[in-house]
Amino acid sequence: MYNPKSTNAEEFINHEEILDSLKYADENKNNLELIDSLLEKARPRKTEKGWHCQGLTHREALVLLACDNKEINRKIFKLAEVIKKAFYGNRIVLFAPLYLSNYCINGCLYCPYHLKNKNIARKKLTQTEIAAEVAALQDMGHKRLAIEAGEDPKNNPIEYILESLKTIYSVKHKNGSIRRANVNIAATTIEEYKMLKDAGIGTYILFQETYHKESYERLHPTGPKHDYCWHTEAHDRAMEAGIDDVGLGVLFGLDKYRYEFAGLLMHAEHLEAVHGVGPHTISVPRVKKADDIDPDVFDNGISDEMFLKIIACIRIAVPYTGMIISTRENEETRRRALNAGISQISGGSRTSVGGYTEKVRPHDSEQFDVSDTRTLDEVIGWLIEQKHIPSFCTACYREGRTGDRFMALCKTGQIQNCCHPNALMTLQEYLTDYASKETKSTGEKLIAEELKNIPREKTREICSSRIEKIKTTDERDFRF
Ligand code: SAM
Repeated sequence: MYNPKSTNAEEFINHEEILDSLKYADENKNNLELIDSLLEKARPRKTEKGWHCQGLTHREALVLLACDNKEINRKIFKLAEVIKKAFYGNRIVLFAPLYLSNYCINGCLYCPYHLKNKNIARKKLTQTEIAAEVAALQDMGHKRLAIEAGEDPKNNPIEYILESLKTIYSVKHKNGSIRRANVNIAATTIEEYKMLKDAGIGTYILFQETYHKESYERLHPTGPKHDYCWHTEAHDRAMEAGIDDVGLGVLFGLDKYRYEFAGLLMHAEHLEAVHGVGPHTISVPRVKKADDIDPDVFDNGISDEMFLKIIACIRIAVPYTGMIISTRENEETRRRALNAGISQISGGSRTSVGGYTEKVRPHDSEQFDVSDTRTLDEVIGWLIEQKHIPSFCTACYREGRTGDRFMALCKTGQIQNCCHPNALMTLQEYLTDYASKETKSTGEKLIAEELKNIPREKTREICSSRIEKIKTTDERDFRF
């Protein structure tokens, strides 16, 4: 039976409820009166405390997704853009993945790291190699990483991940430092999540891959990841262990997108119902070609148009949740996705183990084919050109603004008074320390314009003087 508060995955991601909701969406996809009322319900409202948004339930959001009226679609994209601007402004947070090890004992049919793939080069970085990768990432300008590793208790035990985190945080190369390491490793125990929490991780990210239990079991035929409930209940264990910020995601292309969309939103509703705070981020990866993997065999690929509509509908349904898109997508799709609701992107990514210290992008241990192969500087220059503010900010979690404290600030719009100046200061760090001449010049012009948009005069003055310090001294890491 469907119960969003249940601790049992099959009750909070309930198959019958998803089927009923899909039916409801089909019955109402041309009900323009209902659709207009949903768009009205989801619209941001200005209150005394700032912007407020109600979001939509999975059922309501499914109706928007099912509707294929051109005019309504235009309204959906417009509303997603308005919501994003209200809560995230024009800031885009940057990060890069860091692959530690591709040893894996699972049998995931879509992933080249699966145990039976004898083609792929197996690699596990030593601590010295990790330090070199981190220095290379810092030389690009990165401050925020997502740590990736296959599931292999012998080769990649939790002790290895913890030691690696220590190494990552200890590297201080020139003016660089990694200030937030998010972690994307397999579902584990509360005890191990506590260890990750103590190691100072940012978000714990775990993609569901597919919410359809039968498909999930077929796509994960062997290894610990085969256990649907263990995997789906992982975020609850992480939150129980004290990790406030958790990230969800679906690997689009594995199963029917509408089912996945419903599951994803039900998962977010469940976290909110049980822990009082929803997911910190939602990622929207699509299956890509990789060694031993042909995405076409899954037969559920979605068009770019539908992919962008999914992003817009997620943005409308969960207005306060950060949304991430990776270099799996090409420049054009990423450009459109930014307007549809994405708030975080990766840049200059290498998806192989040890890739950042290689001159030429290596393919031998790669997890998937990267579509956006631009350098970080090119991505930053491109964001600036479109008047997005590239942000390397990691202040929130270091100031204790995580979980419900972050959401409370975000929900009242107060986050704007910290995020906007922090984004500008970290962009200035990037421009001074790492940018090409051209990016530096366009970036500094954008900062000058954007300083004017800091609402509080006092904050504006402090921010300007800190930006001057960053330009002229080695003082870094100022934050509100
Ligand atoms: N081992 C961890 C786990 O099981 O969750 C970390 C997973 S992996 C390093 C990160 C993510 O890459 C996976 O969760 C999956 O969604 C995605 N991935 C795997 N194969 C892929 C492919 N062929 N194309 C695109 N994404 C893929």
